[in-house]
Amino acid sequence: MNDARRLVPRTDAVLADPRLESAQARLGRPVVRDAVRRAQQLARTGQISPAEVADAALASLPPRAAGLVPVINATGVLVHTNLGRAPLSPAARDAAAAAAGYADLEYDLGTGRRGRRGAALLAALARAVPDAQAVHVVNNNAAALVLVATALGAGREVVLSRGELIEIGDGFRLPELLASTGARVREVGSTNRTTLADYAAAIGPRTAFVLKVHPSNYRIEGFTSGVGIRDLAGLGVPVVGDIGSGLLAPHPALPGEPDAATWLRAGAAIVTASGDKLLGGPQAGLLLGRADLIARLARHPLARALRVGKLTVAALEATLAGPPPPVFRALAARPGQLAARAGRVAAALAAAGIDARPVSSAAAAGGGGAPGVELPSAAVSVPASLAVPLRCGEQVRGGAHPAVVGRLRGGRLLLDLFAVAQEDDGELVAAVLAAAGASRGGPR
Ligand SMILES: *Cc1c(COP(=O)(O)O)cnc(C)c1O
Repeated sequence: MNDARRLVPRTDAVLADPRLESAQARLGRPVVRDAVRRAQQLARTGQISPAEVADAALASLPPRAAGLVPVINATGVLVHTNLGRAPLSPAARDAAAAAAGYADLEYDLGTGRRGRRGAALLAALARAVPDAQAVHVVNNNAAALVLVATALGAGREVVLSRGELIEIGDGFRLPELLASTGARVREVGSTNRTTLADYAAAIGPRTAFVLKVHPSNYRIEGFTSGVGIRDLAGLGVPVVGDIGSGLLAPHPALPGEPDAATWLRAGAAIVTASGDKLLGGPQAGLLLGRADLIARLARHPLARALRVGKLTVAALEATLAGPPPPVFRALAARPGQLAARAGRVAAALAAAGIDARPVSSAAAAGGGGAPGVELPSAAVSVPASLAVPLRCGEQVRGGAHPAVVGRLRGGRLLLDLFAVAQEDDGELVAAVLAAAGASRGGPR
């Protein structure tokens, strides 16, 4: 045994360091023990001195017990599925935190008896969509479609245009999802053109409903025709409309994007939507529409398997009833405001010697909707060499800054401010400064 090896402090002795004891209370013992073992190994191989083991272990600890790293979304894609879709509003975060312990989820504090699960959420959703006779909430929009297809369509036919046989992403195909429920998909029309007569010819005694799906991630252009909800509703069978994005009412910044109120008024029996796209809330699936049908869905045994947890109940209610969520604030920003922010961020970085300049940019609504629609935006252009240190920011700097994900264009890294909350501009500047320091080999 060489000297260094003999001098390396034992695991128990290092773990007794008060700083590592408090880290164990925060992160759990195994994570801290692993960090100590890595530090001991560095000491054994002479990369650090035995006296530095506790410090090195402390420095390599993850910032929290879960691995998800907070990200500043400077991609210019507002609803970015890979980055967790919509950011929650402060009100929704507070509500979820308040519900994290025991909460009156199914309990009436006045009477001391059992209460209706999520009653306040359902009331808030009903208020937000007055055109819906009834509402129900499940885990996500895919779950909403599974529930509708199972409860209304099993053993029967769901009529769907060939132009709407969508793949949502990650290999997830709507026709396969429908088929898995025992419903038979009755395809009508062609990829680019489907007429009312095509639907009418397919409808018969086996028809459960007509499904109208908003193609949220592609566009069919050129020689096309489709049939709107109003005409479909005249066919005498229920029309289920999947709007995808979760806009409850028309939005001026996204004129082509369907919304629940418009489709319900046009005669849809049920509208389904996601909670974490343009609605700006937590992952959830909304079911809105006819009281008799929604009641059948809510009573179906599958509904229990698809129900949302208390964190979702709390965050979704706060999104609907509270102040506008970040997604809405971003859509309301004027290009001039974004340009002014980009100018200030670039100036702060340039003052610190970083090659940064404001540029105009085009943002997108993203996975949530409005395919092909460019939203005018502004970005800060910095050297592409900063992309990796910015992405790996949190690991490099022990959680001092969130990771920053931008977009590479023309050999530069663009930090698009469209999806960055204005309050986070200072944090963005600090993260770029730290990443520039790290990439110059400066202090970590
Ligand atoms: C995103 C999307 C879905 C899937 O919604 P999830 O909430 O992710 O399950 C279904 N249909 C359409 C049209 C969509 O845009």
